[in-house]
Amino acid sequence: MSTLATGKDTTCYRGRFAPSPTGHLHAGSLVAALASFLDARHSSGEWQLRVDDIDPPRAVAGSVEAITDSLSVHGLVWDGPLVFQSASEIRYERALKRLASMGWLFRCLCTRATLSERGSCGQDCEYREIGDGEPHSLRVKTHPERLPGFEDRFLGEQSVSAATLPQDFIVKRRDGLYAYQLAAAVDDAQPHFTHIVRGADLLDSTYRQLWLQQLLKLKAPAYGHVPVVQDDAGNKLSKQTGAAALDSRQPENNLRAGLRHLGQAAPPSSARSVTDILAHAVEYWTVGK
Ligand SMILES: [Zn+2]
Repeated sequence: MSTLATGKDTTCYRGRFAPSPTGHLHAGSLVAALASFLDARHSSGEWQLRVDDIDPPRAVAGSVEAITDSLSVHGLVWDGPLVFQSASEIRYERALKRLASMGWLFRCLCTRATLSERGSCGQDCEYREIGDGEPHSLRVKTHPERLPGFEDRFLGEQSVSAATLPQDFIVKRRDGLYAYQLAAAVDDAQPHFTHIVRGADLLDSTYRQLWLQQLLKLKAPAYGHVPVVQDDAGNKLSKQTGAAALDSRQPENNLRAGLRHLGQAAPPSSARSVTDILAHAVEYWTVGK
């Protein structure tokens, strides 16, 4: 199945799961992994695993092993080698140079205290002379009226508003690290990836990434956002809020719960193993709206 293994490039579907190395997989991240895996396999496509490790201060030692072990226990086996975003930094630098040459970037001195309510530059840094020696971030300007909506494969037609796309956003941080939005926009574009399936909490980020892809003349992949898993209080499950690690002793139950959350047909009770459950789920995977 993998074109990486054969060296031939015949696939027309290439998807990925892209966790940050900030802890273990939990029920929420399993749903995102499962949805992207099933969507790819149902289309006889490739599914890659990319570690989004461009934010070393947030990295937690041992996470990569914990995540890959957990994916393997759940039968979510990826194609090709593990890919690390930190190996792509030259691509991000090139993208920044390109944006700068087109006049889309400006230096910003804002701290949390001086940002606007929506997180854009709050003190007109764009019009100030800011030298190399002053700690600054790099921001990209936006024009919501120049960004058409997009067809989300799960949620249907989406349209941008001034509220979803701020006037500007950070592409290189004050601490010198490349921003998530820039790295994701560059790495998720075609031909590397054709389909991105992820949680609906990233919908706002999608507008930013589509904007960057448009400016950089990168071909956008097809996006689909699945419902996020929430805790009892209605908050998204996340490592930051202490979501429990998946219990690797019961992967079948975890997969069944994930499929229920994704609104998929329940595998028959005769499907007892991870392999049987996934085989059923791949065959009957449906993309609803
Ligand atoms: Zn500013």
